[in-house]
Amino acid sequence: MDRFQNFVSNDYVKNELNAAMDNDSLPHAIIIEGAKGTGKQTLARLIAQYCVCSADEKKPCGICSNCNKVKSATHPDVKIADGESDSRSINVASIRELRTDAYILPNESAKKAYLILNCDKMNVQAQNAFLKVFEEPPENVVFVLTCLSATSLLETIRSRARILSLFPADRDQAFKAVERILPGADKSDIVNAVIKCGGNIGRTLEMLNDGSGGEERSAAERIAQSLLSAKKTELLKCSVLISSDRVFSDHVMTNLYEIFAEAVRVSAGAKSENTTANILADRMTRKRLFALMDKVDEARRRIDMNINMNLFGAWFCSEMRI
Ligand SMILES: [Zn+2]
Repeated sequence: MDRFQNFVSNDYVKNELNAAMDNDSLPHAIIIEGAKGTGKQTLARLIAQYCVCSADEKKPCGICSNCNKVKSATHPDVKIADGESDSRSINVASIRELRTDAYILPNESAKKAYLILNCDKMNVQAQNAFLKVFEEPPENVVFVLTCLSATSLLETIRSRARILSLFPADRDQAFKAVERILPGADKSDIVNAVIKCGGNIGRTLEMLNDGSGGEERSAAERIAQSLLSAKKTELLKCSVLISSDRVFSDHVMTNLYEIFAEAVRVSAGAKSENTTANILADRMTRKRLFALMDKVDEARRRIDMNINMNLFGAWFCSEMRI
């Protein structure tokens, strides 16, 4: 039986986790990084199911009562904090509580799991509080953190965890996965959405469900392409797109990060369906692409910190000229 039958693509991650699960040697701290929609939370919940599953072999089975309780977020030995939906759940006080809780034995299962979703929203104090539990990890506890990029975490945390990077699926895999989840959807609509979303399954589903996401993606594509233009005014024109709506701009930044990350992969020899990523890989050095990813990371933090969005547009334009 395939442990990850509902988690497509990212084979190297699945191979590594399969081997660790077969040997009962899962790391006590795992950071899953990747763009929104690449399956970070799906994978985090599968790891949590593995920790508490009551099957004799090939955990997680996905069907026992423990696995089902994880799916419905009601398992007493799986604690979930989400920095995006509830920022208080990852503040320093909550992390201290979690730390105390982690040393208490599991209720029902052999292992406990703590999922810290969107952990890039954790501030430095909370990260430092968290670090203590990483330094002296309790027995039989697995921490799974998800974020857009592990670089937003302290080096001291990163160095104590296994970092797994997720990437969008290829077009075929994404099509099949979306078709399975939305069996009633029109096939050509799926193909179009998959192409627009660059194989990102989560975003494709979002687009097909509510028609959203397309504008953010095209704005990000325009910004990325404007960086290749000899005319400085091109980027300036794009900055209007991200000078008003905070949530929209945040999504554009997520898309932009993903395009740069995809270009890095292409420059390392991977194949991509994304035209912009292919052009960027051809015309920019990896060093510059990494620097742009850092800038986009910083841009997201600024949006989070409630920066004035008019100033943000201007700041972003000047920072992107590297
Ligand atoms: Zn199970």
